[in-house]
Amino acid sequence: MTFKRYHIPIAPAPSRRPWTRVNVHRDLSRCLNCGTCIDSCMYGVHDRRDADTRFMEEPEDHLCRVCFRCVAECPVNALSLEKNSEFTEAGNGLFKPEVLRTIANEAEGGRIPVTGACYRGPFGGQGFDGMWTDMSEIVRPTRDGIHGREYISTSVDVGARPTYLDFRSGGPWTPPRELPIPLVLDAANPGTPPAGILAAITRAAKALETYAIVPARSWPAVGADLQGHVIVRLSDGETTGFEKTAGVEATYRHGGADLVGLRKSLPHSIVSLRVPVTAYDRDAVDMALEAGVDLIHYTCDWKDVDSIDGVNRYIATLRDLHGYLVERAKRDAVTVLASGPIAAAEHVPKAIILGADLVGVDLALYAVMECVPPNHALHLGRFPEEFPLSDVPWATQRVVNLMNAWRDQLLEILGAMGMREVRRLRGDVGRAIFQDEAEREAFADIKVRAPAKEVTVR
Ligand code: SF4
Ligand code: SF4
Repeated sequence: MTFKRYHIPIAPAPSRRPWTRVNVHRDLSRCLNCGTCIDSCMYGVHDRRDADTRFMEEPEDHLCRVCFRCVAECPVNALSLEKNSEFTEAGNGLFKPEVLRTIANEAEGGRIPVTGACYRGPFGGQGFDGMWTDMSEIVRPTRDGIHGREYISTSVDVGARPTYLDFRSGGPWTPPRELPIPLVLDAANPGTPPAGILAAITRAAKALETYAIVPARSWPAVGADLQGHVIVRLSDGETTGFEKTAGVEATYRHGGADLVGLRKSLPHSIVSLRVPVTAYDRDAVDMALEAGVDLIHYTCDWKDVDSIDGVNRYIATLRDLHGYLVERAKRDAVTVLASGPIAAAEHVPKAIILGADLVGVDLALYAVMECVPPNHALHLGRFPEEFPLSDVPWATQRVVNLMNAWRDQLLEILGAMGMREVRRLRGDVGRAIFQDEAEREAFADIKVRAPAKEVTVR
């Protein structure tokens, strides 16, 4: 057997509707066509017309980094920048305009976006922003995960990992399946994907050697060569006809799924219990353990995390789920897949630190395929049926690219922590600082002096 290092096949897949933060406006009544702005802008926004080089071409707004250098250096003040309202009003909740833009950049080439203008995001806040990954234990800062001088594993297991082998029961046992990345693509959230999107997501799952979750209604449309990479989400108590899938998924308190029956009828397939945050209780975990499922898929509807309170609840519940499994000494008896509010690369290690084994990507797939305004997928909360995706290879490549960019960022973080494999990060909350806990620790004992009594001067 030859060793094969995991490799994600990235390739350029340019955005068709590039995100434009500002409109660069040139006042033609003032412009001297002197070309000074061409030299001012190192991002190539300004150029001369090919057909007649005496005149300036329309600025390529989407390349602008808003540094204002050309505005300052134009000798006749002919240039101005205007906020692009289509950009500032795009997205919602976790998918803010800058997040959508970052996803698009990552999907274009599969690389980690570098702005060269320092980090301009928040340094604290609520939800995932209130959770800081702790690099203070860097042991070997020269380790370079991406370029492979030392190998860092991003492999995870799906299924129970027994601490010993017991041959007495004589029952069937399937070893856990190893995935080379801790990422699964969820095409079933929030609805039935149109044909082009389904094809792109399942093909990407195959290229990435992972799984795609698809709704039962979409199963007949999955190509024969992709079926082994598909987990089917059941919705109406269906139990048969899924022998060729990688697995099936039932939803807690929905559709009357018989988990024990599913486990018996598909002994060698993945059986997953989907637990939405709104339905979560510890009975769900007990039920999953008793039925012997491989996966607990903890998730939420996009509306559940549209507010910061929703994200905080999601985080607290994931910690509870992991903690309860540890308390019952059953943490290796089941794999936890967390999906829902995963909008950026940093959310992957954070979800793993909170207790997930692997992370599901769902709503970010909208942005990758440019299913954003004017299609308003993020506002509709579903893939619009009329979404015209005909270029499946382009969309597949963008999903693959995004996953490579996110994996590279995961490798960076593991390298900075001195970790050699992502499995060790699971539930390791010592690798994170929670802002509210840190503030309580630092400030809770500080006594506030009572205000001085009012003194009346006579
Ligand atoms: S620097 Fe100003 S005047 Fe010169 S080409 Fe650019 S916009 Fe026109
Ligand atoms: S503002 Fe900066 S980045 Fe934008 S066009 Fe002018 S020089 Fe280029």
